[in-house]
Amino acid sequence: MAKMVSRTVDLRSDTVTKPTEAMRAAMAVADVDDDVLGYDPSALRLETEMARITGKEAALFVPSGTMGNLISVLVHCDLRGSEVILGDNSHIHIYENGGISTIGGVHPRTVKNNQDGTMDIDLIEAAIRDPRGVLVYPTTRLICLENSHANSGGTCLSVEYTDKVGELAKKHGLKLHIDGARIFNASVALGIPVHRLVQAADSVSVCLSKGLGAPVGSVIVGSKSFIAKAKILRKTLGGGMRQVGILCAAAFVAVQENVGKLEGDHRNAKILAEGLNQMKGVRIDVASVETNIIYFEIDESSKLTAEELCNYLEEHGIRVMQESSSRVRIVLHHQISESDVQYTLSCFQQALTGVQVQNGI
Ligand SMILES: *Cc1c(COP(=O)(O)O)cnc(C)c1O
Repeated sequence: MAKMVSRTVDLRSDTVTKPTEAMRAAMAVADVDDDVLGYDPSALRLETEMARITGKEAALFVPSGTMGNLISVLVHCDLRGSEVILGDNSHIHIYENGGISTIGGVHPRTVKNNQDGTMDIDLIEAAIRDPRGVLVYPTTRLICLENSHANSGGTCLSVEYTDKVGELAKKHGLKLHIDGARIFNASVALGIPVHRLVQAADSVSVCLSKGLGAPVGSVIVGSKSFIAKAKILRKTLGGGMRQVGILCAAAFVAVQENVGKLEGDHRNAKILAEGLNQMKGVRIDVASVETNIIYFEIDESSKLTAEELCNYLEEHGIRVMQESSSRVRIVLHHQISESDVQYTLSCFQQALTGVQVQNGI
């Protein structure tokens, strides 16, 4: 049979989204000025809007989520000998080149992340250093949470859990930072406004270039004094950008237009997960798919190895992320349609059973 029209379904990450026409149009007409001097109106407008949405006093646009987390941790841990408590499966600990210690001199104290992205509260409390040991211990100053939790498959931390960790932090005089790269996904999935979800946090970093689809950028939010210090660190790290309103204009459109699309991404993720769950050789926990991220295992009963499966999909225009010899990740975003999902499922079916499935391609 002749090969069908070529089609690309890019499920590697929600970072692969391309700016929409509306974003490009907004970039073309964006009012700009020098943001290092603090005068770029498009940057200020985005920051004001993000502070409002998150219920914090102030916000700062930064080039990436990694820089947003690094700056936030360093502001809270500005004295040498500081220690931060964070999940052993957290993005900050695993995927950010250890920047908090290599650049910031902050000591990481990891606590085991549960399957759902939480850390047990009693384990967090047990990890807090006793101030009486100041001669030998680093000083605990910060707790970091991640919501949604990427490596756990985009699971959401509840407002009750977040509040409890916030209370614990307060009780011990610590700060709480939330890596909210996908906080909008968590908010939509839980049906809780972002400002309520992060109420207990002293700072939050939010990615605009993940599911929201902006081409570049993250925002960190917190108190005015936190943001004032963050601005200095951003410059130190080389993240001060001049007519950055070009990027902020696109990000503003992303925030206005794309939050409403996340629900569809979550629905598509569920459809994909449920479809995969029917297939022999795939091991998946459908219930753990709460937002737009899916992890699954290719087990011994599969005809193909994970690598062979990924290669087959690639040949059919479907790009996924192979995480290990058996583990595969798929991430949904607003540029994946329901028909893309059906096409993807039929390709999986073909790969795993060898049976050609006719589908509305
Ligand atoms: C993507 C991501 C980041 C970092 O964002 P970059 O913009 O890629 O540096 C931080 N935390 C989580 C949970 C992420 O998914």
